[in-house]
Order: sequence, then C-alpha cells, then structure tokens
Amino acid sequence: MAIVDDDVRRVRDEADIVRLITPHTQLKKVGRQWSGLCPFHNEKTPSFSVNQEKGVYYCFGCQAQGDAIEFVRQMEGLDFVGAVEVLAARSGITLRYTERAEGRSRSRRKELTELVARAAAFYHERLMDQGDTDARPARDYLRSRGYDGEVARTFTIGWAPDGWNALSTHLKVSDEDLVAAGLGALNRHGGQYDFFRARIVFPIFDERGEAVGFGGRKLPDAEGPKYKNTSDRAEIYSKSQILYGLNWAKTEAGRMDELVVCEGYTDVIGCHLAGVERSVATCGTALTPDHARKMARFVKRVVLAFDADGPGQAAAERVYGWESEFGLQFAVADLPAGSDPGDLARSDPEGMQRAIAEARPYLEFRVDRVLERAEMDSLEGRARAATEAMVLVAEHPEELVRDQYVMRIADRCLVSADEVRRLATVGGRNSPSSGQRPDVRSAGGSGGNIPGRLTIEHQALRLLIHRPEDLSAWLAPALFADPVAEMAYRALAEVGEFHGARATVDDETADLLGRLAVQDASDDDPKGVVCRLLALAAERNAVELEARARSSGDLGTYQPSIAFLRRGVIDLRETVADLDQVEPLLRWLIDYSENDTDG
Ligand SMILES: [Zn+2]
Repeated sequence: MAIVDDDVRRVRDEADIVRLITPHTQLKKVGRQWSGLCPFHNEKTPSFSVNQEKGVYYCFGCQAQGDAIEFVRQMEGLDFVGAVEVLAARSGITLRYTERAEGRSRSRRKELTELVARAAAFYHERLMDQGDTDARPARDYLRSRGYDGEVARTFTIGWAPDGWNALSTHLKVSDEDLVAAGLGALNRHGGQYDFFRARIVFPIFDERGEAVGFGGRKLPDAEGPKYKNTSDRAEIYSKSQILYGLNWAKTEAGRMDELVVCEGYTDVIGCHLAGVERSVATCGTALTPDHARKMARFVKRVVLAFDADGPGQAAAERVYGWESEFGLQFAVADLPAGSDPGDLARSDPEGMQRAIAEARPYLEFRVDRVLERAEMDSLEGRARAATEAMVLVAEHPEELVRDQYVMRIADRCLVSADEVRRLATVGGRNSPSSGQRPDVRSAGGSGGNIPGRLTIEHQALRLLIHRPEDLSAWLAPALFADPVAEMAYRALAEVGEFHGARATVDDETADLLGRLAVQDASDDDPKGVVCRLLALAAERNAVELEARARSSGDLGTYQPSIAFLRRGVIDLRETVADLDQVEPLLRWLIDYSENDTDG
C-alpha cells in the first residue's frame, strides 16, 4: 500500500523543515540558508546545511541528505509511509492510499527494458523470417560478412523494416513509452513513427543483459549515415556509459582480468568469432571516464584494439588519469595498419588473438611506433625520432616512468640520455620537467564537498533547481559534458521538479542534486551562466569537428560548422543582450548531438 503522490507532495510542502530539525540540532541562519552541527554524525564544525525554501538538508561531512520525510524516517527509524503519516498528523492532513507498490523508477526502468526487448525480438524475427523479402538484402549482406544464422541468433541481430511505423504498429504502446524507450517519435500530425528504418540493428544490452538500445547499420547502397544509435534522450540509454558486449564479455574478462575495447559492434562480434570473448565497444563515442570506471569494476587491464591515435579517441592525458584514478592499465594491440578488426578476426583469427596477447603498454606502443617508422640510418633522422618520441613521453605523469623511456629512446636512437632530455625541451611542445599534470578527472566526479566551488555545469543545475523559470528554456542535454551533471539535468527536465527528479536517479547523481539544492542561488546570473555553458559546449564541438576534418582530410565539409561555432564562442564572450540571440547556436548544438551517428 502506498500514499497518493499528491498527498505526499502536500505533506512535504506543508512541513517546515527548519522547525522539524531544530529540536535535534541548533541551526543558525547564514544568508538565506541555515547551518549547524550535523545530527547524523559527530562533528565540531558545522557542515550541515538546510534550505528552508526547498525543504531540504545536506551534510557536506557525511553526505546525509533529504527532505522532511527523509529526516523523520532517519531520526525515528520509520519507513516511508510511516514518516509521511507522522508528518501528515502534525499538519492535519488526511492521507489517501493506493494499491500501487513503491519504487516507481525501478519498475519504470523494467518497463522500458522490456519494451526494448520486445522491439529486439520483433526486429530479429523480421531478419530470420525467410519469407520476408524486405529483409533479404540484409540477410545477404550479413552472410557476405560471414555471419550465419547462429551468429544472428547469438547477438539477436535484427532488421528494422523499410517503412515508417512497422515497429510502432506492432508494439501498440503509448506515445510516452515509445519515445522514452528511444524506439520512435511523433510526426507533425501526432502519429507514431519508428526511429530505426531500413537498417540492420544490433541490440545493445547493459552488463546484466537487459536490452537498453540499438545500433543500426545501413546497407552498403542505402542513403544516410552508416551508423545510427539509439538517441541519448532515451530514458534508459546513455552512450557515455554503455559498453556494447559487456554482458557477453564479463565472464571471460573476469577470468582473464582483461577487457578488449574495439571500435564497433561488428568488431566485437568478429572478436567473438575469433575466440576473443572478452571484447566490448563504445557506441558512437570515444571512451569516457564512466566507461573507464565501469571497466575497472570488472578488470585491471584494458587492451585497446583500435588506432589509439585515431580521431576522437581518448587523449593520452586522460588515459593516464584513468590509470591512476581507477587502477587500470591500458595497453594497445598492434593490429596490421588499415585493418578492420572485424575482418581480421574472420580472415586471420590466430593473428587477431596474437595481436591482443602481445598488446604493449599504452606509452610503449606509441613510442615504439614512432621509432619503428623513423629513418634510423641518418643522424638527423634519429634526432627527429627522439624528439618526436619524447613529446609522447612528456605526457606521462610519473617521472620514474618517463625516465625509463628516456633510456630506451637513447638506446634506440644512439644518443646519450642527456641529449634525449635536451631534445625534448627544445623540440617537444610539452616540457617533461613540469611533473605535475592537470587534474583529468571529470568535473564533479569527486572531491566536491565545498559548496561554492562549482563547475559551470553545476551552476546551471543549481539555478535550474532554484529558479527554473530563469533559464530552463536555454538548457539541453547537449550542453553537459559531465555525465553525472547530464543525468541530473535530464532528471530535472523530465520530472519538472527537484524532489521527484532526485527519486529517479542513481546515488552519485542524487548526491549532486542534494548538494546543489541546499545552496543559495539568489545571486546567480542566469544569462551569464547560460552564455558560459554554451560557449564551452560550442568550443568542445568545434574541437571535435576539427579533429574529424583533419582525419578525413575533408576540411571543406566541416569548415562552415567550425566557423559558425567559433563565431558563436566570440559572440558569447561579448555582451549578449538577450538570451533569444543564442537560439540558433543552441539549436545547432541540440541537432548535432541528436544526429551524431558515427558508429
Ligand atoms: Zn553529517
């Protein structure tokens, strides 16, 4: 039995949280907030904050947080219903009850994963039904890639029919559920249509094996981008966290304490066929801190089976940061130049296994590659190689490690170690003597106990919690680079208010929300925050497009967008009189993030 949502809300709104807490600890008013010694842990200096207006508390010492209901629950050892009843009695509110069980967010997730699973089954049947002529080119294509029926069944590969609403018609679900599961959307007339059409689809499962989304690949002759993934706006899918194949990989990965990261779905399947089951792939994004954190839960060693210097791949600095933060070791498999791991696994499975077994530490691999390509028969060639190699070495945060590579390079290039060090400071962009590397952890990931020291993304969230009307129209998921902040934003935007949003997110995100909710946002400048947030997002996108332009050699295609973004950054730095002015840039960023489909 549960209490009607509206009544819970009323009880929460009527309770005066300061009066509720005062008998347990003395609170002093500081500005618009109240603070005091934490009633939940022993302390001598106050780190317990209360925001009366929002009706919430947060302890910066022990991370205890909540609203009036949570406080009564904690203090009096009651369950949720019991705590609401105590508060209702104090405020003279009569409660109404429902039969529905608690834990809406958990059951919601289950609903959506079941819906995605139904979609996967539908697509799979379409592919496997030999009488289905629409799917025949897909079957032919898969067969040409060496995938037989067993492979299709193992990975639940499917075919999204070439029509507007084959799936939507089959599923018969509400508009809300269709959109929330990332399976479709509504057209201008309010009709449902499918997100994936005329594509081979690979269901993406989370590590527990629950279906959360799809990667869709077009047929070779078809129009449109090669890959299209479930949108990040789907409620249960987040590309910065999901690793394709982890559900199948985790057994072997646990046994061997190693994961192999490939570039795409077909590479993972290729690895499986070559007998390397511990392989995963990111879904249309470079590795993120969340990916690294997730992998660290399963293994100590990560082998990158793609071009580690390729466009969009994690920068060296981040890799070293993850090695120290998550206790991971990164290595690189030496795949033959230009080879597609998926093809290699099929044509030369032993070669594939060998390349992975002989993977070298991240820095060693990159230094060796420079030295292998160098012209070692001239003094100039060797000096150039040493300089180039030292640029890579200088990126490593540990002096001891850097020194070992100095010796190695000196040895290979037939120069003295001192000369190598000298070359590094003359020719290298990064001086190896700086020692201290910048903090590479994601903003807001940890160490954020002190209120006031906020990233711009956190400032935007704080404003959204306290003064939503001032900036909610100017925010979008595309503006958040920190996955925790992004999740917090999505929850606030979808649920529409703080208490409900906090109930739907994981612990880390709830902690961030709780921390921001007790703070004072009355002096914040919404326009300034939006402008800075937009400028950062535009800058990020411009840098990414430049990398793509460089790697593809096709500057012409990207130049107009890059110029547009750079112009936008400059405009934002100068005075923006009215936020309406930033609309085109905001639209661009939203559209781009939704259509970013580089498999
Ligand atoms: Zn505390």
